[in-house]
Amino acid sequence: MSMLSVLRKIVQEVSTAPDLEAVLDLIVRRIQRAMRTQVCSIFLFDSVQQRYVLRATQGLHQEAVGNVSLSMTEGIVGQVGQRAEPINLEDASRHPAFHYLQATGEERFHAFLGVPIIHHRSVLGVLVVQQVEHRRFDESEEAFMVTVSAQLAGIIAHAEATGSINSEQHPQAHVRAKHDRHFNGVAAASGVAIGTVVVATLAAELETVPDKPAHDIAAELEAFRSALDAVRDDIRTVSKGLAQRLHSEEQALFDVYLRMLGDPALTDAIETLIRAGSWAQGALRDVILVQVRQFNAMEDPYLRERATDVRDLGRRILSYLQEGAGPVSIDCPEDSILVADELSPTMLGLVPEEKLVGLVSVSGSGTSHAAIMARSIGIPTVMGVIDLPFTRLEGRQVIVDGYSGRVYVNPSDKLLEAFREVMREERAVAAGLEGLRDLPAETTDGYRMPLWVNTGLVADVARSLQRGAEGIGLYRTEIPFMIRDFFPSEQEQLQSYRSQLEAFAPRPVTMRTLDIGGDKALPYFPIEEDNPFLGWRGIRVTLDHPEIFLVQVRAMLRASEGLNNLRIMLPMVTSVHEVDEAVRQIDRALLELQDEGYQVLRPLIGVMVEVPAAVYQVRRFARMVDFVSVGSNDLTQYILAVDRNNPRVAGLYAAYHPAVLRALQYIARETRKEGKPVSICGEMAADPGGALLLMAMGYEVLSMNSNNLPRVKSAIRGVSLARAQSLLNRVLRMDDAEEIHQYLRQTLKQLGLGQLTRPKLPHQNP
Ligand code: PEP
Ligand code: MG
Repeated sequence: MSMLSVLRKIVQEVSTAPDLEAVLDLIVRRIQRAMRTQVCSIFLFDSVQQRYVLRATQGLHQEAVGNVSLSMTEGIVGQVGQRAEPINLEDASRHPAFHYLQATGEERFHAFLGVPIIHHRSVLGVLVVQQVEHRRFDESEEAFMVTVSAQLAGIIAHAEATGSINSEQHPQAHVRAKHDRHFNGVAAASGVAIGTVVVATLAAELETVPDKPAHDIAAELEAFRSALDAVRDDIRTVSKGLAQRLHSEEQALFDVYLRMLGDPALTDAIETLIRAGSWAQGALRDVILVQVRQFNAMEDPYLRERATDVRDLGRRILSYLQEGAGPVSIDCPEDSILVADELSPTMLGLVPEEKLVGLVSVSGSGTSHAAIMARSIGIPTVMGVIDLPFTRLEGRQVIVDGYSGRVYVNPSDKLLEAFREVMREERAVAAGLEGLRDLPAETTDGYRMPLWVNTGLVADVARSLQRGAEGIGLYRTEIPFMIRDFFPSEQEQLQSYRSQLEAFAPRPVTMRTLDIGGDKALPYFPIEEDNPFLGWRGIRVTLDHPEIFLVQVRAMLRASEGLNNLRIMLPMVTSVHEVDEAVRQIDRALLELQDEGYQVLRPLIGVMVEVPAAVYQVRRFARMVDFVSVGSNDLTQYILAVDRNNPRVAGLYAAYHPAVLRALQYIARETRKEGKPVSICGEMAADPGGALLLMAMGYEVLSMNSNNLPRVKSAIRGVSLARAQSLLNRVLRMDDAEEIHQYLRQTLKQLGLGQLTRPKLPHQNP
């Protein structure tokens, strides 16, 4: 077998192991065998003890496992960890750092190769192979070890995290209490929430099925049996339908499937778990995954293939069970924290609004659309918590720290109290801001800054009016499209647009034409692409589908009849001809409607500047339309080449990057040269510091989520335009986003606006 297939096999097997012990054990056994060494061991770093502990071995004394450890500077293992690079020695005992571990029986071994196990830049541990003879491991062996270690690091981190939350009875539980375990993600909506986890399940993937108790054992048994029958029927139907076209051995596969389904070993095991109190999906997951592992471990390639069949069958049964259960979690606790593998805007509806206090997503990032919506509702959210073992969290208590992007599982009483104090502070700040509602957003030297809002959800309108919004700068029309089963008709669209326009009249309402693609999918219009953010998005889709575009524009125009406060905005514009074409279509719809007798006036039309191409042609665009609005969320991602949805690069997504600030300043200047108004509707406007910079750059309208409007108003009222301009000049001379961020925070504090930045959090205390 080639090294690559050995590697693949190890990774595949390890990724289905049930817990950390099994993961580590499999790794050492497989590597020892693949490399034909006498010893393979894993030391993992224990952050409580600050030591590398021997956690698994093949070849050293088993009694040493868990009992032998090295400090960060001790032994060659410590050196590998410290340098974060491999050490390859012909005779370890001759190395100056050698530290003899008597309990392991390692004195017989001379050749030593240790490679670090690194996950997200931090060293999780060290993987070691040893041999009796004096020899240096060759280059290809070293390369193999480095590759295996890099591939396994994520699996180890995940298994370790899962283990830690399952180990309240761990011998070190008392130590642990002093070190509350947290998972890092991206701070996506500020605020703190304490509550009970509700896991959202949508996809028929066995690995993502959460643990849940059976509320009604008889009902769960019944659900399982009918799912089994349904799958059996499906297989029989398919098998019959294909009978003429299949070879006999392929036909035989269906028989194998049917036999497996009838196998009492499988069904009994599942039913036993249900009777012991698990819901059907969890019992199915456990039994199927054990079988998958068993088949995977077999030497015979034919039997190994059966692993795929078992998994496939499991998935089929699961999808029937999920269909029956529906995606909705039935009884949500009072303070629910919704946790999902991939949080989508539509999932927010799974928990009743009055019970939803926090959101957590394993994937996604701060400017993912689910995060933007969470900010607008004002629900503390952490996205991109890559290592969160979310299927194990149902019913657990967690703290969501939406300021620093942390999720604490099973927090200690001390930590809970500290976060409750932060929540009390938050309430006091919010109460202080309430008085601003009817006051203008005016600087101390009398400059008036219009503050508008971004909307999408029905509830946004009322909330926005409550907070004193002066207009809508961005109505994300795709949001209502997303929570349906097919494209809404002209009549349906007309009604929802009319209610927005009416609620705000005579104040302006900016409706963006359908902006799907990227991370916004319509269930009834799937777009599958390798690179969705560089793909068929926004105006590109609607220009290719004039029937969708025209229906939408007609609905908008008709909705504006008699109100005349409509503005239409075009997303993701890259080229002049797109603007030309879109404006032509809007004019065509207008003429048609006027011919049909509607009293509609031509609305103001604007373009969004969201891609670098639009920055450099902004003056040309400004001449073609009535206004320009910057979508800084997308502009930041495209200028920095950082996917706004990818948690791995979330640390690189920086709205205050000097390049982004320069682009923003350029856009404002160039648009104003054409005498056209320039506004911004990306998330940057919702940040008090960002709002001051944008005001100083000459942006004439700031549009933001309604939740942040009072903070921004407070910042503007606390500063003079002149001061904001000097702040901008200073910031534009800095070359680092983090430095700029810090400086803005510090300035707000100096202005007496420290309460608008984040509060002091428990982990920042000495
Ligand atoms: C933006 O990109 O900044 C924007 C406002 O649009 P969206 O976030 O909906 O992509
Ligand atoms: Mg955008």
